[in-house]
Amino acid sequence: MTVRVRFAPSPTGALHIGGIRTALYNYLYARQHKGVFVLRIEDTDQVRYVPGAEEYILEALAWVGLIPDEGVGFGGSYGPYRQSERKAIYYKYAHDLIERGKAYYAFDTPEELDAAREREPNFAYNYWTRERMRNSLTMKPSEVENLLRNGAPYVIRLRVEPGQDILVHDLIRGEVVFQSSELDDKVLLKADGMPTYHLANIVDDYLMRITHVIRGEEWLPSTAHHVLLYRAFGWEAHMPRFAHLPLILRPEGQGKLSKRDGVRFGFPVFPLSWKGATPEENFLGFREAGFLPQAVLNFLALLGWHPGGEQEVFTLEEMVNLFSLEHVSKSGARFDYDKAKWFNQRYILATDNTTLAQLIRPLAEKKGYRTDLPYLERVVALMKERVTLLTDFVEEGYYLFEPVRTYDDEAIQKRWNPALKPALEAIAERILTLQPFDAVTLEASIKALLQEQQLKVGEVLPILRLALVGTMKGPSVFDTIALLGPTETTERLRRGVAYFLQCQRSHVP
Ligand code: GLU
Repeated sequence: MTVRVRFAPSPTGALHIGGIRTALYNYLYARQHKGVFVLRIEDTDQVRYVPGAEEYILEALAWVGLIPDEGVGFGGSYGPYRQSERKAIYYKYAHDLIERGKAYYAFDTPEELDAAREREPNFAYNYWTRERMRNSLTMKPSEVENLLRNGAPYVIRLRVEPGQDILVHDLIRGEVVFQSSELDDKVLLKADGMPTYHLANIVDDYLMRITHVIRGEEWLPSTAHHVLLYRAFGWEAHMPRFAHLPLILRPEGQGKLSKRDGVRFGFPVFPLSWKGATPEENFLGFREAGFLPQAVLNFLALLGWHPGGEQEVFTLEEMVNLFSLEHVSKSGARFDYDKAKWFNQRYILATDNTTLAQLIRPLAEKKGYRTDLPYLERVVALMKERVTLLTDFVEEGYYLFEPVRTYDDEAIQKRWNPALKPALEAIAERILTLQPFDAVTLEASIKALLQEQQLKVGEVLPILRLALVGTMKGPSVFDTIALLGPTETTERLRRGVAYFLQCQRSHVP
């Protein structure tokens, strides 16, 4: 039997990073079993539908490289894969259940339901209360027919009979038991003719021949109704295996990670940035924060799964080979942003300079910096070992593209000495004619010059660095000069000296 799994997001807003983890685990499972990874868009809830959310899902999956084999935008023989295009199918199946005596029409108006809730604070429409409500189980058949003929609004509800044990063999959690007496008669088809999540989900999993349902833990309680639906349809033999993934917890390990946490802690919890209707609905994405998609996948893979051993950096191929649901943990996984950054750093180091240059090109362009790839490659080579995020290349390394914005005054106080002025001027003069203009020649020539003038390298180099980049951090001074070129370097030395002198004056006691 071919393994068929699905990722079934609802386009109700930006897809949370947990959604990408769900997609990843489905993808890994499918690839490992030479199976099929389906993308189904569950867009039947028109109230919660958000324009642009479906495009976001597709773009996010494309960015991380989890490409479905079938589904919206990918074709396949079990379509359509967008639930809003399958309305007639759900309508038919809901009515089939009525025929089979497993579901019923309910005509209760919103006012009647409100009144019932008023009478009973914990009102649930179930095997017990339905006896007192207006539905096809309590009304005369002729009355029901009349109402239907006259187009009276109705919903279709699942007829849950009490006293049944519902056993779910979860591949991660083991056996989970539910009691049918505790379940309500879920609405399957709404008054507007649209299915609810439960009906559409089960009908589609069945029709799309899904063999394994791998989804977030928040769906575990719904599984009880899902099992009842498989029984009601007589599809028990085709019921998929279930695997409910652990929650992703806040960094402090308490409670579920929410979209607001990203704003609160200042890190992304979405794959891509999202522009919502209001400023509070604008969220930063991992992509825009400067992450490589491979690093995000590696980080997400280990949020709840580990194959054992010490290894933490895995290629997608290794993950496909090693993944197993047995090694997914039952308990929640703490979202550790520092760990995400650690992965990114590792992946940046492992990426070749040409690729990195291409990746930072749009970032440089946005800032109005030069964008020629040979230059960007040299920037990458200098900064690669010092950055964590792709954005760091143009943020931290801004001085490789534009003049120094701020100088580290404290360092200047410590290092500057007016006696160094002639040395800096001599260096500026020397490099104007230096050939070839590379780091090795520069180093030899500048060191020789300092020796001639009986100056210490350890005194001059820090101040040279401060003049060039404004800070004590950064790549080698000689590499930096080689990159900036003679004109820009002499200009920076001139400006640096002017600044140091002014700094010195303003600090005279
Ligand atoms: N549409 C549901 C969601 O948004 C799918 C849950 C499931 O996988 O069954 O997550």
